[in-house]
Order: sequence, then C-alpha cells, then structure tokens
Amino acid sequence: AKRTGRLKTVVFDEEHERSVRQTALIERSLRSADLEAEFFLTFQPIVDSHQDRTMLLECLARWQSPTLGFVSPGQFIVVAEQSGFISTLTPVLLEKALRAAKQWPEEVGISFNLSGHDIVAPEKVLNLIAILMRSGISPRRVEFEVTETAIMMNLDQALANLHLLKNTGARISLDDFGTGYSSLSQIQKLPLDKIKVDGSFVRDLESNEASRKIVSSVSALSRDLALACVVEGVETREQLDILQGIGCSLIQGYFYSKPMREADVGAFLDQQDVT
Ligand code: C2E
Ligand code: CA
Ligand code: CA
Ligand code: CA
Repeated sequence: AKRTGRLKTVVFDEEHERSVRQTALIERSLRSADLEAEFFLTFQPIVDSHQDRTMLLECLARWQSPTLGFVSPGQFIVVAEQSGFISTLTPVLLEKALRAAKQWPEEVGISFNLSGHDIVAPEKVLNLIAILMRSGISPRRVEFEVTETAIMMNLDQALANLHLLKNTGARISLDDFGTGYSSLSQIQKLPLDKIKVDGSFVRDLESNEASRKIVSSVSALSRDLALACVVEGVETREQLDILQGIGCSLIQGYFYSKPMREADVGAFLDQQDVT
C-alpha cells in the first residue's frame, strides 16, 4: 500500500509538473504570438427555431500557433485570463468580429465573449467601445456575453462597465447560466437582455426530468424578468422538440451548426433565406 501511495504521488507530481510546464509554454507562446495572423474566429448561429432563422452568430476564438499547433480555447483562454493577457487579445478579436459582421445582412447580429478582466477596468471597456464605434457596425447588432463568475470578480466595477456597454445600444447576455454560484436576486441587479442556459442541462434532457424542470423554470424566470433566453448545446431533434414544448425558441448548438469558418457563414445564411 505504501508503494502505491508513493507511486501515486510520483504520478501526480509528474502530471502536475507537466501541466505547469504546459501552462508556462502556452503563456510564453501567447506573449510572442502574432495575434492578427495566428488567431481567428469561428461563428456559431443562434437560431430562432420557429422561423429557422439565424438571429446572431456567436464569435468563438481559435488559435493556430506555429510552434504549438492548434490550441483549443478551453486551454488558452484560461491561461490568457490568469496571466491578464486576455485584455490584449480581446480588442484584436473584437476587431475581427466586427470586420466579419460587415459582410452579413443587417438583421444578423454578433455575440462576443468577454472575460472578467475585460470588464473590470473602465479604460479597457472604453477601448472596446471605441473599436465598436469606429467599426461602422450598429451597436444594436452587437451582444456581449459575460459569465456570472466574470461579473462577480468585481461586481461594482463590472456593473458600471456593463452599463457603459449598454449605453452604446449593445446588449448584454449572461453566459453559462446555471453553472455559477450567484443567487437569483443578484441577477436582477445586472443590466441584462438575455440569459444563455448552459449546455450541461441539455445533454440529458430526454432522460432526466430534473433537467427539464430546471430549463423550464429558467425559461419562465427569463420571461418574468422580460429577458430573452437562449439554450446552448442543442444537438438533437428530440432535444429541440422538448425545448420548444417548454417554450424555448432561441437555440444554439450542433443541431443547427458547429462553429463555422468565416468563409462558410454566407452560404449558411443564404440557405436559410434571410430576408
Ligand atoms: P462558451 O462561451 O460557453 O461557448 C460555447 C462552447 O460550446 C463552444 O466551445 C462551442 O463550440 C461549444 N458548443 C456549441 N454547441 C455545442 C453542442 O451542441 N455540443 C457541444 N458539445 N458543444 C457545443 P469552444 O468554441 O471550444 O469555446 C470554449 C469556451 O472558450 C467558450 O465557452 C468560452 O468560454 C471560451 N471562449 C471562446 N472564444 C472566446 C473569446 O473570444 N473570448 C473569451 N473571453 N472566451 C472565449
Ligand atoms: Ca459564450
Ligand atoms: Ca456558454
Ligand atoms: Ca463556457
């Protein structure tokens, strides 16, 4: 037993060391990266399922590093957030998102992810607003996604800064709803337009009554608070049918499309006959 214990410790230490090295490597590669060339966005439709019509495209970052190869956002966003590098990356991504949006019909908006760091300092938010204003894209076409965790990093600053963003005419949506720790009473203090129900509640929708109840009460809550509601991570027709039955019509997930390259978005929108 003693041997196993020691072995476990060794394995853990090695794994831990590997992950520390990996994080350091990602951090170094981020700092020396050519952000314009190595980073790009993919776009995933958020669809009004009753009309089969794309209302927005969520912008999801991708990194093709010349040294590390493809690094998933699950890996690099966390490192970028921890190191503070995210506030260098976010403005570059926002410019790319707005440039892409220029090619799409006016009725189609974009939904852009912000991290906690992006919404703590007013000068960073003002910089994002300046980029938005310079782009020529109407702020009404733009939504910013923030998580409860990001907001709770510094609630007072986040609140003030979300108001700055909202004053441009842009909208705010609360991402990954249901996975954070904040209470419902805090939600009503936030200047929100929309709630995004996390995909983890959708995965077992068919088999788990509790998940159905959670999604349907979040949907009812959003209606009571006059907020829109998007359900993420919808992969199957069966899930869509259940959600429509519950009254959720804004849907995002592989059922409609995986995140697409910019070059493929035009054809996707055409095929939906957006008018
Ligand atoms: P998120 O904002 O919750 O984005 C949704 C994630 O779920 C995306 O993963 C998307 O590809 C994935 N997804 C969408 N539909 C389905 C589905 O039907 N089934 C399954 N299994 N997955 C689905 P992705 O693109 O790997 O991004 C992971 C996370 O990285 C995002 O989660 C977000 O937190 C972060 N992220 C991505 N891009 C950015 C960015 O530009 N800025 C910031 N701050 N964070 C970003
Ligand atoms: Ca998101
Ligand atoms: Ca989400
Ligand atoms: Ca997430």
